[in-house]
Amino acid sequence: MNDPSKPSLIWLNRFHGLGPAFFTELQPHKMSQPHWVARSEACAASLGLPHNWWHDQGALDPLQVFSGNAQWPGMQPLASVYSGHQFGHWAGQLGDGRALWLGEIDTPHGPTELQLKGAGLTPYSRMGDGRAVLRSSIREFLCSEAMHALGIPTTRALCITGSALPVMRETLETASVVTRAAPSFIRFGHFEHFAHRTAADSPTDLQRLADFVIAHHYPDCQAAAHPYAALLQSVALRTANMLAAWQAVGFCHGVMNTDNMSILGLTIDYGPFGFLDAFDPGHICNHTDQQGRYAFARQPNVAFWNLHALARALMPLIGDSDAALAALEPYKTAFLDSFMTRMRAKLGLSTAQDGDQALIDNLLKLMAQDRCDFTITWRRLSGFDSTPGALNASVRDMFMNREAFDAWGLTYRQRLQDEASVDSDRAMAMNRINPKYVLRNHLADVAIQRAKTGDFSEVQKLHELLQHPFDEHPASAACADFPPDWAQQLEVSCSS
Ligand code: AMP
Ligand code: MG
Repeated sequence: MNDPSKPSLIWLNRFHGLGPAFFTELQPHKMSQPHWVARSEACAASLGLPHNWWHDQGALDPLQVFSGNAQWPGMQPLASVYSGHQFGHWAGQLGDGRALWLGEIDTPHGPTELQLKGAGLTPYSRMGDGRAVLRSSIREFLCSEAMHALGIPTTRALCITGSALPVMRETLETASVVTRAAPSFIRFGHFEHFAHRTAADSPTDLQRLADFVIAHHYPDCQAAAHPYAALLQSVALRTANMLAAWQAVGFCHGVMNTDNMSILGLTIDYGPFGFLDAFDPGHICNHTDQQGRYAFARQPNVAFWNLHALARALMPLIGDSDAALAALEPYKTAFLDSFMTRMRAKLGLSTAQDGDQALIDNLLKLMAQDRCDFTITWRRLSGFDSTPGALNASVRDMFMNREAFDAWGLTYRQRLQDEASVDSDRAMAMNRINPKYVLRNHLADVAIQRAKTGDFSEVQKLHELLQHPFDEHPASAACADFPPDWAQQLEVSCSS
């Protein structure tokens, strides 16, 4: 990797070995006169790419490759086929309608697949144009990298390239391409696809897919008495952990269709997502989701529903429905355990005690009643003074019902004393789990509006800020503030 004009990437492309039933090989569509919009040095570093790697201007310029205009030797571009349930209904065949798998490279963190999102029509584009618009690319890029910095399992984003290519949505917009990275982009929907197409008595493709995923991503399952049930259980556990992470930070995905569920338990396909501002458990972040199927508080149950869809798809391999149900069952306790661990940490508790659940539930109830800002309330709680009689005005002022908060505060203080908690130590620990900065919609919107004028500085600024969401950044303090009134008018939908 010393000469950036000849990136010595080692291409593994193991997905390719699954064979043509799983994908269509095709070249990305070109995007003329591309320009850089954003690059993630952190993602590049995680792939083992050197610092100056972006700046080559030769024929194999990364700008051209990540716009779909050139390929490095070793790439084997393809679009994969999958199906899925959308908003609770079987949607039939979907597939990579605008994502294009470039290949899989060897990295210091293990084999990693690279994908272009928005590289033009594929056989799975259906009514779409295969493109992604600048605003949605910026949101995906910023949020993927912000989630990673928050410690939440996610696909990564390496860069965005933009162009003047017109793309029609509700209005005329411009095309851009996000390059994503993940150990695998396989979704629940890939399994559903092959289960649906395959006769129950000859589940060849389905089995090939399951064996592939087990061999490369869940090798421990190979030794299990029932490897496919073990796979289902492992996916359920990873999904539980991801959901607990979302709920603890106030992340709402927006489109939890089974085709948007990663088999590795990674947050994937950032569309109309949102971080909670005022805490409303029923918050619906996707304007298109009129029934609120994917409302914030429903997410853990929806994930369980999606896992049942995966279980149904795996039935030809698992055979016994009791075994499949037994494999799903640990999801519930795994979710609760992971959620409780995270919430205890958010409260700065270092031990687990009876009554913790009530302490947490009561706080969340008060926050919901008073529509307290989720991120700010938790962050301010880090400074809780456990001295008897302390007013704790900074966090108390978040609540309208101050007496109720005071009563809760007495219980919390008692709980802290029970484990001899030291305020200053606890504050430091809590500030490492309660972020100061999250990608609120209005912050993304400001960066997007600027980017539409050709000024990408705000995207870069936000990207850098969100790499360190737990630190104080006095120069960017406004980004940690309450959302402005106009933020309530922002609507994000499936249009992207
Ligand atoms: P989503 O729910 O946005 O992840 O997308 C659902 C399905 O629609 C997937 O198969 C996508 O590949 C496809 N899709 C979404 N937008 C487009 C587009 N602009 N062009 C082609 N396919 C798309
Ligand atoms: Mg999707």
